[in-house]
Amino acid sequence: MSSPRRAAAEPVTLPDGKGRFGAFGGRYVPETLVPALDRLQAGIETHLHHPDFQAEFLHELKTWVGRPTALSHAPALAKRWGAQVWLKREDLAHTGAHKINNAVGQTLLAKRLGAKRIIAETGAGQHGVASAAAAARLGMPCTVYMGAVDVQRQAPNVDRMKLLGATVVAVTGGDQTLRAAIDEALRDWVSDPDGTYYSLGSAVGPHPYPYLVRELQSVIGREARAQMLEAAGRLPDVAVACVGGGSNAIGLFHPFLADAGVQLLGVEAGGRGAGLGDNAASLTYGTPGVLQGSYTLILQDAFGQVRETHSVSAGLDYSGVGPEHAYLMHSGRVSYESATDSESLDALAECAKYEGILPAIESAHAFAGARRFAEKNPGAHILIGCSGRGDKDMPILQNTLLKALHR
Ligand SMILES: *Cc1c(COP(=O)(O)O)cnc(C)c1O
Repeated sequence: MSSPRRAAAEPVTLPDGKGRFGAFGGRYVPETLVPALDRLQAGIETHLHHPDFQAEFLHELKTWVGRPTALSHAPALAKRWGAQVWLKREDLAHTGAHKINNAVGQTLLAKRLGAKRIIAETGAGQHGVASAAAAARLGMPCTVYMGAVDVQRQAPNVDRMKLLGATVVAVTGGDQTLRAAIDEALRDWVSDPDGTYYSLGSAVGPHPYPYLVRELQSVIGREARAQMLEAAGRLPDVAVACVGGGSNAIGLFHPFLADAGVQLLGVEAGGRGAGLGDNAASLTYGTPGVLQGSYTLILQDAFGQVRETHSVSAGLDYSGVGPEHAYLMHSGRVSYESATDSESLDALAECAKYEGILPAIESAHAFAGARRFAEKNPGAHILIGCSGRGDKDMPILQNTLLKALHR
């Protein structure tokens, strides 16, 4: 799906016509979902790169989301690490993370497609909040599916969604977490594919979602690239982002793919360590398989059973990863590493104390990876995707970092 309107600086050849990124991606779904996905794909081809849609999208990003988000030089981290450090501040975007870019874009698309309601899934609640806010802004009713376990664990976000006018449905089937919520949202969508629009929260799932989410999130990397040229007079040596499903990372990386001199580094959740069930690092430790409509790398046992994951960061706690990342790892263009829970919490504490920025625990994984890169590459110019703010993480920080501080 290439578009004649695309800026020349961003050559795009993938996904191919079948939604594949090399061997990965595609569409592994029941027959009942195919018409809805076909309709979505046709809608994307008509609207997504049309100047009218892009103008409306950029207007909302500018006047409501608060874009462009800042690029901040981080002088204290630079001094401590012996490198040059720049932060792309998605924590400053409305609702506190990059997820709003995708939620606004998909809700605008839903309106163009004539949908009457938005549905979304959410794990930790961040995509649910972003979807509820975007739907309220654009005058559409919104239902958010959330695993019953997550409804308990993430009560403040459930209340935020309700204040924003959304209906939150607790999913009691399956694993009662994110995976069950996605399954339930897909079921809802199949029952009314014309009137309902399913806004998916990361660069995962069946084609065309990984492509759609990448295109909407690429605003991060486009802005960061231009801001680096303006502020530093050069491109970074490396751009680093955390990887859960992979939407903030692909959004940061994609506009740099053609810049051969810019290394790209994705950092997954290393959790407690390498054992199956102890982390959420699908690229580092996973094997190929199908999860929720896509052929990608997943954390599964020898019998192909998808395994529970662990991460201190709820937003990275998923057993799969977007198929484009699996492709970019295999092609060698992007490197992937993992950072453990404790490395990430250390990195969060360092950024908060010395830069006055409290990143999300998800984002702190990128800081941990960047710090390692700096050790091996003294003097390097490092661009870090700060995907969100850490205020939502206070309950976890109270039980970890703050306990240690008070000892
Ligand atoms: C949801 C979330 C992530 C992980 O999702 P991706 O799709 O991998 O970007 C990372 N950071 C923050 C702040 C999040 O809310």
